[in-house]
Amino acid sequence: MTVKHAALAEKFIADEPRTDWHDETLWFVREKRDKAAHGLPEWEQLREWGSQIKNNTLSNLSNYLKEFEEKATANGIKVHWASDAKEHNEIIHKIIKKHGIQKIVKSKSMLTEECHLNEYLQHNGIEVVDTDLGERIVQFRKEPPSHIVLPAIHLKKEDVSATFHEHLQTEKGNNDPQYLTEAARQHLRNKFVESELAITGVNFAIAETGGFVVCTNEGNADMGAHTAPVHIACMGFEKLIPKAEHLSVFLRLLARSATGQPITTYSSHFHKPRPNQEMHIVIVDNGRSKQLGREDFRNSLKCIRCAACFNTCPVYRRSGGHSYHTAVAGPIGSILNPNLDMKANADLPFASTLCGSCTNVCPVKINIHEQLWKWRQVIVTEGYVATSKKLGMKGMSFVFSNPKVYRFMGKMGRGVMHLFPFMVNNKLNIWSKQREMPVAPKESFRDWYLKNGKSQK
Ligand code: SF4
Repeated sequence: MTVKHAALAEKFIADEPRTDWHDETLWFVREKRDKAAHGLPEWEQLREWGSQIKNNTLSNLSNYLKEFEEKATANGIKVHWASDAKEHNEIIHKIIKKHGIQKIVKSKSMLTEECHLNEYLQHNGIEVVDTDLGERIVQFRKEPPSHIVLPAIHLKKEDVSATFHEHLQTEKGNNDPQYLTEAARQHLRNKFVESELAITGVNFAIAETGGFVVCTNEGNADMGAHTAPVHIACMGFEKLIPKAEHLSVFLRLLARSATGQPITTYSSHFHKPRPNQEMHIVIVDNGRSKQLGREDFRNSLKCIRCAACFNTCPVYRRSGGHSYHTAVAGPIGSILNPNLDMKANADLPFASTLCGSCTNVCPVKINIHEQLWKWRQVIVTEGYVATSKKLGMKGMSFVFSNPKVYRFMGKMGRGVMHLFPFMVNNKLNIWSKQREMPVAPKESFRDWYLKNGKSQK
């Protein structure tokens, strides 16, 4: 097993004030979510409905997908199917080439991050401008987003100011958020006007109508789609819901879980292209069918990407999104990514305390912490853990299943800790890097109990 998460987290936590600030900021968002959720007496009922609607969708996926394709095509939308990231990128590139387009704008879409679309298009000479403010900031810095809802949450306003000074020639040292936002607005406005094609993500695609909904707080998806003559929407097939009436459940769950807002500022409904506009939708598998076939993990596909599990996770908050080295970080990323590449992502299910807070806040009731625990078992069975860990666990199993050996080892351990404490408290012992080993007791609990237990009754 790789230890990438641990190594990357170590870099992040080296900056202690930033780590504390990151932790507190995300906890603030979590508290906003709590307030918004508790303000709705029917919150638990909504979660249950959300979960059941998604269960139904996943159980009848092929029918709903066919229905969606039929309706969308009848509405004048061109539907494309991509089995993997490569095909997704090639389909988009083909449409761009057909129109001879050089400049495109793109609103937030974690699927395009997953498929590395920007890199692919830029490699083919196409300018891609991310129009979500947070995404534009990280794009300038050549960094991936660190959070699926708040892509630049790892950065402070001073960092943004320095980035904008370098790329947008803003005043050096001016950290005023309003000033910086205005600079981004002016810069992006020109990009919208120049762009001939807009790419958006999809939050919900509705089988019954063939339409889809895109949620943003900045209105950037609408700006792109409404000014460009070609609109391409990209969606993983799990974004489907059966009926338009189900939106009333998901739109209420999504905004409250993500940012504590009662509703996302823009929930834009797209049903058909405008006159003289071309509209495409690319439906992507990229490992989702495989995950659907894994009984223990299939319901991870219910995810509506609200990031509530990120904001509550003590490991995410204190290790930062980049430590997860994947497009989708956090607890949900740790159960989606091993499916995509088990070897490369074998470390992720171990980046958790298994406290269950993620499961508690998930608006569609995904049993995230149980799946993390189950992935650990799969990863061990498939042989993706380090030999040292494997041997260590075998040794522990032997000791714990033999009482005499256990007692002997306990005695030895206590002796060593008394006589040679440096053998435990040293830099080679990862556990004691940020902790003091407690002073070992003179005797085991068993010995103490044999001496005192009866007399205490
Ligand atoms: S797993 Fe649940 S809490 Fe996490 S992003 Fe998905 S829907 Fe939100």
